[in-house]
Amino acid sequence: MAQRFTEPKLVIASHNPGKVREIDELLAPFGTTVISAGDLGLPEPVEDGATFIANAEIKARAAAEGSGLPALADDSGLVVPALGGQPGIFSARWAGPTKDFGLAMEKVWRELDGADPTAYFACALSLCWPATDAAPLHIETFEGAVHGTLVWPTRGNKGFGYDPMFIPQGFDITFGEFEPSDKHAISHRADAFRKLVAACFSAPDP
Ligand code: IMP
Repeated sequence: MAQRFTEPKLVIASHNPGKVREIDELLAPFGTTVISAGDLGLPEPVEDGATFIANAEIKARAAAEGSGLPALADDSGLVVPALGGQPGIFSARWAGPTKDFGLAMEKVWRELDGADPTAYFACALSLCWPATDAAPLHIETFEGAVHGTLVWPTRGNKGFGYDPMFIPQGFDITFGEFEPSDKHAISHRADAFRKLVAACFSAPDP
């Protein structure tokens, strides 16, 4: 059985204010105070894992060890089976130093070259408790996914990253055309969050 989260404070192992805000909102019903690794001045670890899970665990462990507090990290990306799983854990890097996701999407479509456009977004979420005198360091990790199809040309400008080229299964618009709240209800991050909350967080008081 997963370890339950009962501490009052949690570090979000991210320097991205958007991500911290989203996680803060998701955890608000559980009375957890959230602080970001950026606010604590914690350094960003090298993400050299071979999987989303490995990278999420590297980030959660670094923030927990650096702060002495429990820490939550996520790692996510677009997986295209016809491209051998690329861009996958390198999703951010495909956009280059200028973070140009227009170019990254063009590269995905070009490399696909008419092959099966099935794809999915994946997310790994890791919650790490630092070692104490009473217990060793402990990590719980959960994975989420949303399956769909890639399209070209891209459509919509509401999301970020690869959203404008991804149509989730059961819909006919891209994530770039989704209202953010509708996307957040079905996204890979929401899927992983539901699993994390079910396993580690107690239901909020009614
Ligand atoms: P990171 O886990 O924040 O490093 O995200 C990795 C990259 O995956 C992001 O820069 C995006 O390019 C891509 N990505 C992750 N989640 C999404 C999403 O919900 N929509 C579009 N792109 C995403």
